[in-house]
Amino acid sequence: MASSAAIHVAVIGAGIVGAAAAHFLAAAGARVTLLDASGPAAGATGASDGAVSVASKRPGPMMDLARHARAFYVRCERDGLFRGLFHRRSTFLVARTAVEAELVARHGADLAAAGERVVEVDRATLLARIPGLGASVCAALEIPDDGHALGYEITQRLLGRSRIAIRRNAPAAEIVMRAGRAAGVAIGDELVAADAVLVAAGIGSAPLLGLGEILIPRKGQMAVTDRASPSGPAIDGHLMAASYLAAKRGIAREDGHIGLVIDPLMTGQFLIGGSREDHRSDHATDARTIAAILREALDLYPPLAHRRVLRSFAGVRTASRDGLPIVGAHPRREGIVIATGFEGDGICLGPFMGACAARLLLGEAPAVDLKALSPQRFLRVEAHA
Ligand SMILES: Cc1cc2nc3c(=O)[nH]c(=O)nc-3n(C[C@H](O)[C@H](O)[C@H](O)COP(=O)(O)OP(=O)(O)OC[C@H]3O[C@@H](n4cnc5c(N)ncnc54)[C@H](O)[C@@H]3O)c2cc1C
Repeated sequence: MASSAAIHVAVIGAGIVGAAAAHFLAAAGARVTLLDASGPAAGATGASDGAVSVASKRPGPMMDLARHARAFYVRCERDGLFRGLFHRRSTFLVARTAVEAELVARHGADLAAAGERVVEVDRATLLARIPGLGASVCAALEIPDDGHALGYEITQRLLGRSRIAIRRNAPAAEIVMRAGRAAGVAIGDELVAADAVLVAAGIGSAPLLGLGEILIPRKGQMAVTDRASPSGPAIDGHLMAASYLAAKRGIAREDGHIGLVIDPLMTGQFLIGGSREDHRSDHATDARTIAAILREALDLYPPLAHRRVLRSFAGVRTASRDGLPIVGAHPRREGIVIATGFEGDGICLGPFMGACAARLLLGEAPAVDLKALSPQRFLRVEAHA
């Protein structure tokens, strides 16, 4: 993309992906201006769960990328960048019917084939690990090497540890091109001149890139309880129902589907989610959806009946039409790199993908092959449409 580290990059979007790219660009000596229509973590990053999970990923490029991305968290935790923010913990994939048990077993086999540690857990062992688990749970697998991090904390850390000019309340209206390459970003009448532009604006990337048919907003509602333990997670792992896997593997496609996860937070609270509502980009929660999520959660883990629900919230995932993120150089507009479409996986993938995007902007090869994520697959289709 650019041969010198002394370039000036305008990064559009201060979510976890834009913040990571900005951080690693600045660390490599580039000048960075980070623009956000609102402020850091104002989008999905600030309204999400924080599963850094390989267990939840569709087999193929997503599972492989998630393994790299989770290893990147481990490295960043060890070298101090994410110290105190990333926590190792198990994911339990749980089934409540024979059909679900089959799905969980198939997913476990895919995880093992990708090199992941997968442990079969019988009901008695599971009950010893998670006392009170619902009577309907008939099969489970433990994925011991997953983790958790809060997106807004990671974003704050990445920005706090770099010298980056952050422009809040700065909505990019368009990417300005001169002589066939990016010359900067227009914010109202102002031009923020730059040598290269990274579009990491979540669902806001669609109008900037003309990807309105390709990027789909997918709302997710979640509920947060009071503390079930005074400090530290109240149960010994993250509960992920087969309904969540079904959504990720493209088996359950109905709008409003609930992919159930019960996440024990470090605060002792539970985060319970979530709905998958396509073409919804508002942040409203409604009693019907939250009640449906809680009903499912109570069946899986009845001790939740003793908890108070403190609040509900909704965030907007950015899904792409083929379910894979879009990361790489714009195939027709020089000087633009794209990193969006992370759907429900961007807290896990975000820091690593941001680091990869930074390398592309610096003219270096990314740490892994990103061909499967290339923007070309969509921008080409559009050209023929
Ligand atoms: C309910 C829910 C639960 C989730 N749970 C998980 C989970 O457990 N694990 C996981 O890995 N992922 C999870 N995710 C997904 C994760 O939150 C997202 O994939 C990730 O936050 C995407 O980060 P991003 O930086 O690409 O986008 P965002 O966080 O959406 O950031 C985009 C930023 O761009 C800004 N912006 C938009 N348009 C413009 C513009 N024109 N000009 C300037 N700025 C602009 C916005 O203000 C925003 O700050 C969940 C998401 C939701 C909604």
